[in-house]
Amino acid sequence: MRQEAVRSRFQGALLGTFAGDALGMPLEGMTPQAIAHRYGVVRDLLPARLGRGTYTDDTEMTIAVAESLVACRGFDGPHMAGRFLHTAERRRGYGRGTLEALQRLAAGVPWDQAGAGTFGSGSFGNAGATRVAPIALLYHSNLAAVADLARASSEITHAHPLGRGGAAVQAVAIALALCAGLEPPAGARPELFIETIEHRLLPQEALYREGLEKVVMMLERCPPLPLEASDHDRAGQAARVAAVLGNDSRAFTSVPAALYSFLAYAHSFELAVTTAVALGGDTDTIAAMTGALAGAYHGVGAIPERWRRSLESGPRGRDYVAGLADDLFLLWLERYADVC
Ligand SMILES: [Mg+2]
Repeated sequence: MRQEAVRSRFQGALLGTFAGDALGMPLEGMTPQAIAHRYGVVRDLLPARLGRGTYTDDTEMTIAVAESLVACRGFDGPHMAGRFLHTAERRRGYGRGTLEALQRLAAGVPWDQAGAGTFGSGSFGNAGATRVAPIALLYHSNLAAVADLARASSEITHAHPLGRGGAAVQAVAIALALCAGLEPPAGARPELFIETIEHRLLPQEALYREGLEKVVMMLERCPPLPLEASDHDRAGQAARVAAVLGNDSRAFTSVPAALYSFLAYAHSFELAVTTAVALGGDTDTIAAMTGALAGAYHGVGAIPERWRRSLESGPRGRDYVAGLADDLFLLWLERYADVC
């Protein structure tokens, strides 16, 4: 029973990343006000650049992380860097920092140095955080390993301490969401998440302490709206949240924005992810990270069926991602289940 519940959460986190990415993709770069004016609250997958239900770099890199963990039976930096390099399709919309690191990897720069030179001292964009779900899943019973390996995996492309820190914060949050989802009476208590994540921060990641405090503040100032709230009220609240937490592609704004979206609406995958999209800005990535958290918490069954059936199929589409989640689950079962 419990193993089935864990398996469902592995699938939920990976397909949740995918669903959030696909929902957010068509709105990328829009302000919360522009999204509200044009669409109201976005509740369905819209036509997108690569087609309705398609994914972007966020899901593509998540797939690469999962493939590498499965192939190497754990984290292996050089192998993961190779998967990024060989699976990246430019049409998926990679950011400049990632592309620069991939170019250096292609030129033979080692995996732990390729991301170091970007923008002077390494990128603090959110790509290290948005692809980290498979690491959080495989190592969820050991939060120290989750945080350390999240940082190491980010280093490949996003080596700035705040880029690596964003990956650690998001990974620890996903691991906590998975464990909290298995213990329904306790649920997703924000104070547990904030305290546990803070405990894992390194001194050079102090900016995240500020981000987490802002999440707590916004959970008080903008608590979850009732189901019957109007689109106008939801959009207004999203704009207020985005104004304080930020919604751009820097990890230290978008990771807290995703955490707020999840914690405010931890009772509903759909409300959490639609809230993330309503924040505007880097919508695909913020919604992908929120989808990972909510999927790890609820399991795959909580992803609306009308979204799941519209996700891109094909050789590296939804069935492949679900299969990868199962492979990762089997690896966890074999190697780590007894320490849970
Ligand atoms: Mg993207």
